Amino acid sequence: MTENNDLVTSTQEIMKEALHKLGFDDGMYELVKEPLRFLEIRIPVRMDDGTVKTFKGYRAQHNQAVGPTKGGVRFHPDVNVEEVKALSMWMTMKCGITNLPFGGGKGGVICDPREMSNLELERLSRGYVKAISQFVGPASDIPAPDVYTNPQVMSWMMDEYSKINRSNAFAFITGKPLSLGGSQGRNRATALGAVITIEEAAKRRNMSIAGSRVAIQGFGNAGSFIAKILHDKGAKIVAISESRGALYDPNGLDIESLIELKAQHGRVTPLFDEVIPNEKLFEIDCDILIPAALSNQINKENAHLIKANIVAEAANGPTTPEATKILTDRDVLIIPDVLASAGGVTVSYFEWVQNNQGYYWSEEDIIVKLQEKMVEAFNKIYDLAENRKMDMRLAAYVVGLKRTAEATRFRGWA
Ligand code: GLU
Repeated sequence: MTENNDLVTSTQEIMKEALHKLGFDDGMYELVKEPLRFLEIRIPVRMDDGTVKTFKGYRAQHNQAVGPTKGGVRFHPDVNVEEVKALSMWMTMKCGITNLPFGGGKGGVICDPREMSNLELERLSRGYVKAISQFVGPASDIPAPDVYTNPQVMSWMMDEYSKINRSNAFAFITGKPLSLGGSQGRNRATALGAVITIEEAAKRRNMSIAGSRVAIQGFGNAGSFIAKILHDKGAKIVAISESRGALYDPNGLDIESLIELKAQHGRVTPLFDEVIPNEKLFEIDCDILIPAALSNQINKENAHLIKANIVAEAANGPTTPEATKILTDRDVLIIPDVLASAGGVTVSYFEWVQNNQGYYWSEEDIIVKLQEKMVEAFNKIYDLAENRKMDMRLAAYVVGLKRTAEATRFRGWA
């Protein structure tokens, strides 16, 4: 069984347990255990050298019982069927946890955008939308950014969909630039959402953010913004990592200058001589550990080495089921991915609402509304986990699946 197969299987196992806790039968599980619709497409793209290259892409629509499906599109060489399916199921959970009127969706294209020109990326983005255009839309399935896609890619996709449908369709896609109907706060929404849940977790553990020692795996969009926000709140960021190594300083790294260096050079670790191997990151003496990179990073080999009191999963699927058990048994408070990383889709929802209304909110409005949603979600899940003796992940799935399962039953689908 491959690692990605594991992602789907382990998600299904928790879903099954969560549905049983909610009192649903196996018929409901059979319906939600995979996306209701899964599209596989092939996208021909004229490359700059004149040749045509055909890329494979996917779009998964997990369940639209409560509203349109919602979720990002990733451009990455490792994109595959199982991963896209699992990610779409996690989106259902994120939307359920934050009570957004959406089901889960996800898309991906197998490609390496780092090796493509802007023009090639534009043609690929437009080709992707053309191929799925009959099955997506502001009221049916709404894409967004994900790994290696950004506001520019969203703009091309929005433009292509608008051309096909012969009218401006701002609400078709979220994560757009501000000048094209984007929302204030969307670019750092995932990070802000994660920090809000960390603050709530710290309260429950009688810890204060100011002075706590934080290690972050990943210094991309989520990781670097999380570092900055926590640093501004007085936390000491003792380590950050990138794919090729980690920086560590027990007295706290200079986050402001690292962010400046990142803006100039793209990556920061190659600029330093003293880099520690990535495996060491999880062993660092810290209070809060934030995996904000890839899936399956915390596993049975390294979970017992973790010294943090709180693990906040800003990445999708960073902890294996075995590691979740090891950490929970050791009383480490896990903020599961479907909760910790739900800030992005929450502000995407605000963006979609603003597009539909044609009325735009201030950054302050967005932050207050995001705060409300994330605080409520964290406490609901934490209390459920405490009162019903579940681990945080199972509790998150119970909260995340409840509304979709109820709506599915009311509709008579299962
Ligand atoms: N790709 C992000 C996620 O995995 C955001 C999805 C969205 O905004 O719809 O949560």
